Amino acid sequence: MASYNVRALGIYNEYLDYISDTILVEDGVIKRFGSASYAKDVYVDGHVVPAFVDAHLHITWLGLALNGVDLSGVRSPEDLARKLSLAPAGIAYGRGWDQERFEERGTLPTRKLLDRYIPDKPAIAVRVCGHLAVLNTMALELTRIYEVFPDLVDKETGIVREDAVYRAVESILGKIDVTKIVKDAVMEIKRHGVAGVSSMSCPVSEAQALARLDSVGELVIRVACYPRKQHLAEALEALGDARNAAVVGVKDFADGSLGARTAYLSEEYNDEPGNRGLLLLTKRDIMRLADGVVNRGFKLAIHAIGDAALSEVIEAYQEIGIGGDGRIEHASVAPPSLIRELAVLGSHVVVQPRFRVSDWWIEDRLGKERVRWAYPFKTMVDAGVRIAFSTDSPVETINPIETIMAAESRCSQPTCRAEEALTRRESIYYYTRASALASGGPVAELGTIQSGKPAMLIWFDEDPKTARKLGIPKWVKVASSLPG
Ligand SMILES: [Zn+2]
Repeated sequence: MASYNVRALGIYNEYLDYISDTILVEDGVIKRFGSASYAKDVYVDGHVVPAFVDAHLHITWLGLALNGVDLSGVRSPEDLARKLSLAPAGIAYGRGWDQERFEERGTLPTRKLLDRYIPDKPAIAVRVCGHLAVLNTMALELTRIYEVFPDLVDKETGIVREDAVYRAVESILGKIDVTKIVKDAVMEIKRHGVAGVSSMSCPVSEAQALARLDSVGELVIRVACYPRKQHLAEALEALGDARNAAVVGVKDFADGSLGARTAYLSEEYNDEPGNRGLLLLTKRDIMRLADGVVNRGFKLAIHAIGDAALSEVIEAYQEIGIGGDGRIEHASVAPPSLIRELAVLGSHVVVQPRFRVSDWWIEDRLGKERVRWAYPFKTMVDAGVRIAFSTDSPVETINPIETIMAAESRCSQPTCRAEEALTRRESIYYYTRASALASGGPVAELGTIQSGKPAMLIWFDEDPKTARKLGIPKWVKVASSLPG
């Protein structure tokens, strides 16, 4: 048995309450506060808290971004192909090119050019906007994307547009071994002091890769997978009896995004009169989706960014009577009337504080009045809404400190208002225990320091209660791998 007395300047729980200066850890599990004579001392020159839990991110897409090639600097199609051929993973994925910045302005790269540099693995180069990409022959043939979207794919040039771009990438991932990509993402997450995550829209290939890593002891975080409903059975089968990952729920989308003006609003966009966005799932659709999911013990996680989409999800959840097994992703535009309903509903509202920083243009979309309804975390918390923190990585950085800064309104954008700032205690709680409970499954027991729970502990040089800015979190090294 591996026993450790973890001795620190201070050990704090998820509420940042001081617990002790010593805890006993045995075989990766917290035994009790205090020490034991037979245990080995581990000295931590700092302050210990539970490791973070990120309740909404995308493991595969994060891994892809880590393995991808930055094509923003390329100045010609040849340059692009050469750079892309250096991609390390089993797929040559790159993003960021813009033909308007090529020396020969406007010349698009082609399938045949990519083939010359990358003949032996699928290659996909996505334009800076994400709405256009070029594929090599191998990628085209693996995905047969031209059969799915004949109008959006030019088979001859390899140019793919709009929806076909995203689907092509996802489909390639389903056909190659994504274990390296998934492993890289897992290591990156762990490196930032994050012990558990919810992986949203988890593809089957990701579930398979997680199971593979788990079976060889390389899954060093815990993962709650939320596949789309059509992938539920396959994802369940892939994960089988994995110890550190499980299918916990199902994910779907009720609307789009504010950036693309597809988030569904109750009133028209301030900067596009006549447009209220897109409702992708009605209340009835959501109730149908819940069927065969909720009654089998799975959670439901619905993306709703605009206030009208949020209202649709709330009504559906009320009728289903889902309560704490329901999650609402983002809830970006939440007027006071809906906040009251969210509090009564009791579902988890999984927010991304860092959107406050990235959506610097939000006042254009919503106008001066409605912008007060965007990311109103303090109002939500005071009303009793069960919020949980996340990054939506790779949409936002995986770095938890950036998220905490944004939650505390330490930023200058229109939604970083002092009256909506959370305290450090609140930030830590919503980023540990609350996000663990929202995630569920094998992640649910993380985000706390209690006897019998996994010893997933991090520490800071600074006192987390008083330090204005926290430094990089470090792991308390008490176990070589995750407990089962
Ligand atoms: Zn997401």
